[in-house]
Amino acid sequence: MSRTPVRSARASPVDVGGAPVSDLPGVGPALRETLRKLGLERVQDLWFHLPLRYEDRTRITPIRDLRIGESAQVEGVVEAVERGFRYRPQLRVALGDESRATLTLRFFHFNRAQAEQFAPGARFVCYGEIRHGAHGLEIVHPAYRRVLGDAPATTEDRLTPIYPTTDGLGQKRLAGVIERALERLPPDEILELIPSDLREPLRLASLREALLTVHRPAPDVDIPALASGRHPAQQRLAFEELLTHHLGLKRLRAQVRRHSAPVLTGDGRLRRALRAQLPFALTSAQQRVVAEIERDLGVAAPMLRLVQGDVGSGKTVVAALTALAAVEAGFQAALVAPTELLAEQHWRNFQKWMEPLDLRPVWLSGKVQGRARESARAAVAEGAPIVIGTHALIQEGVAFRHLGLAIIDEQHRFGVHQRLTLREKGRTGDVVPHQLVLTATPIPRTLAMTAYADLDVSVIDELPPGRTPVQTVAISNARRGEVIERIRAACSEGRQAYWVCTLIEESEQLEAQAAEVAFAELTAALPELRIGLVHGRLKPKEKQAAMAQFGNGELRVLVATTVIEVGVDVPNASLMVIENAERLGLAQLHQLRGRVGRGSTASSCVLLYQTPLSQMARARLEVMRETSDGFRIAEKDLELRGPGEMLGTRQTGQLQFRVADLARDAALLPAVQRVGEAMLRDHADLAEKLMARWIGGSARFAGA
Ligand code: ADP
Ligand code: MG
Repeated sequence: MSRTPVRSARASPVDVGGAPVSDLPGVGPALRETLRKLGLERVQDLWFHLPLRYEDRTRITPIRDLRIGESAQVEGVVEAVERGFRYRPQLRVALGDESRATLTLRFFHFNRAQAEQFAPGARFVCYGEIRHGAHGLEIVHPAYRRVLGDAPATTEDRLTPIYPTTDGLGQKRLAGVIERALERLPPDEILELIPSDLREPLRLASLREALLTVHRPAPDVDIPALASGRHPAQQRLAFEELLTHHLGLKRLRAQVRRHSAPVLTGDGRLRRALRAQLPFALTSAQQRVVAEIERDLGVAAPMLRLVQGDVGSGKTVVAALTALAAVEAGFQAALVAPTELLAEQHWRNFQKWMEPLDLRPVWLSGKVQGRARESARAAVAEGAPIVIGTHALIQEGVAFRHLGLAIIDEQHRFGVHQRLTLREKGRTGDVVPHQLVLTATPIPRTLAMTAYADLDVSVIDELPPGRTPVQTVAISNARRGEVIERIRAACSEGRQAYWVCTLIEESEQLEAQAAEVAFAELTAALPELRIGLVHGRLKPKEKQAAMAQFGNGELRVLVATTVIEVGVDVPNASLMVIENAERLGLAQLHQLRGRVGRGSTASSCVLLYQTPLSQMARARLEVMRETSDGFRIAEKDLELRGPGEMLGTRQTGQLQFRVADLARDAALLPAVQRVGEAMLRDHADLAEKLMARWIGGSARFAGA
């Protein structure tokens, strides 16, 4: 792809940002397609594709000075190689250096050529997290390169940014493309979209400088600041990202306000029938929230309401009652969930509740294919009262007859954009459906104002009675054997257990591998138990089959990755083991733990950690042992997350920001709101441009 003189003469710098990535040298059709999967279609999308974290490969650390839990780069010579088999093949390489100490490199996945490179005497530079292994210090699956001859190993002269990426696109290649895009970064006068009279009082860093700093941090950059996301460059970008988010939500809200919605006041017959057959009474919090929703539905303006309720607070039945209100009024209701697993579970619940009312919910997910899909779609078009499914529901080709209500579960996996699409689906002229969003992410109220600026918020702040709190313990991985015995004991009493493997956020593949290793280990250690495996790399059919078997008790233990984080409900599962719990944030630990403690038996959660613990990790595990109140945990999270949190990895399961963090950057919010209002009022065109820049293609909003 050569740049022709004609084009560069014609293109203004603004066009440069809007140019397709294929304009960049070296970006052919295949790479363009891969980039598209990441939502990177234009050159400016690359400017704003920000690192998740950084690795420090600027120095070589002597093996003797390595500290467990840190990521470090070492250089050494292979002293011994061992290929073993412990549940699965593995390769162990002993690497020694001039500090006369030895480090083990451990691989579970390797091919023959890789194994053969590690010949005794060969010299390597490796990077990875230092762990405590069976033979002293080790790195599992390090990044490595061979150093030939006697030349001293070269080190990087600045921090290495690690970008979110996808299969088939390595960090180096992605960084290279971003680098080429950065060469076209225009000067600030052109790049800046926030008007200077609004920007200057805030004393923000220059946008151009900010982008260059986060992509190419200088050797003398303030590393702790950068690692914690508090560097002025990141704060500049966080401000802009929060502002964009705020503008987007405000615009959405304004658009919605211009429409009308059907008045959904039925006679209450179906709702009464459902409540009469429930085996429990609604909590007063559920009743209050249902009443708030019913009030919204009775008005000819579209409801846009968020129901926030901790895991297990009973949001599903609130959704079901809302859906029935729509049906009573003669309209259709749709419920969408972020994952197949979760959607299917809702479908089963709704079936159980609604079949006695002579209603048969229609199931429509991406996996319903062929004739089944055609007939489901026909049913939806003809006005089937209740439709449940995944994203497929909101994709092209599904038409409702008269959608009155859209319910979206677990909002953090969806984006604003999807909410919008679903509403457009049900639109007839100026009339749009009501919208209810359910989320289990507890966000303190002040933050909710920004996070959900387009929504009204209801809170289910009470758990159903009779829950036995989950007893939580933290146990060192050195006592893994005892934990496995605990599973044996629990299962022999008829209980079921989850074993959750968590790993590194940038690789679903590594996480899946870890789950396979744990699966092999547990299968060997507990031959009498039927054990299943669920991870993101399995086919949807395999995942569903395992979940269904775990749900009906055929499988006693389920080894899973964090794919089970969202919403899975198996009341008989009363033991959960979370591996590498020290690596997870509080919000995610809380979500995971919420999968147990749903039945009447006492439940427990074992947080298995690698020693030694950082102070921060210790504090987090302590919070988990102390409380199971999601809002309290969210507040603690705010308190705890500080400059000490290294690497700046963002918690998954939260709003998908690239650089901003609602908790960390809360201090920016008042200015965000102020500038946002001024821009909407006086600079609507710039506001639009800002949104186009940050929000980009719809892929951005897909979340996961
Ligand atoms: P979440 O808010 O996490 O989505 P669910 O809707 O899955 O929670 O509810 C968790 C469990 O609690 C389900 O088994 C549900 O049937 C039950 N449940 C819901 N409301 C009540 C209630 N008022 N009393 C007792 N159990 C309830
Ligand atoms: Mg739920």
